[in-house]
Amino acid sequence: MSTSIRKDWDTYFMDIAFMAATRSQCPRRHVGAVLVQGKKLLGSAYNGAPMGVPDCSEAGCMLVEEFEVKQVDGQEQMVRKERCIRTIHAEQNLLLFTDRKDREGSTVYVTDQPCWTCANMLANSGITEIVYLRTYPKDSDKVVNLMQHKGITFRQLESYQPPAGIAEASPK
Ligand SMILES: [Zn+2]
Ligand SMILES: [Zn+2]
Repeated sequence: MSTSIRKDWDTYFMDIAFMAATRSQCPRRHVGAVLVQGKKLLGSAYNGAPMGVPDCSEAGCMLVEEFEVKQVDGQEQMVRKERCIRTIHAEQNLLLFTDRKDREGSTVYVTDQPCWTCANMLANSGITEIVYLRTYPKDSDKVVNLMQHKGITFRQLESYQPPAGIAEASPK
């Protein structure tokens, strides 16, 4: 289907973040992030093992077990979860491959709401806006607090649809 409707900038850059996410080799999570200054794309990244090191598709995920307090029907419950720690998160790779001076006052588009560690690093990176699509409830409260404290605009895209055939259900 072709369309002559021009994509808005949010859609344009989030589409690129989703394209970057397709490079990820971790079967548990495909995350992409891009750095934007004004309307200029300055970098893109995805979650992955360090360069030259076997990734999840070759060596399997490196799983750790975690327990998380969750509200289930108004009751607090301990929920056991597994998390893959083999990869450097997309946001962290983005910071490793961009320059501080380019980041001052810039925007990060990321497919998933950042975890606490990534949010903490982004808060110290010079960026002033984070735009995400999928939520990550586990760390959301502390991350939102941090962004408010730092005066970083933190917003979820509404009524955005990832490019067809790209976004898979992303298990957390
Ligand atoms: Zn993995
Ligand atoms: Zn992270």
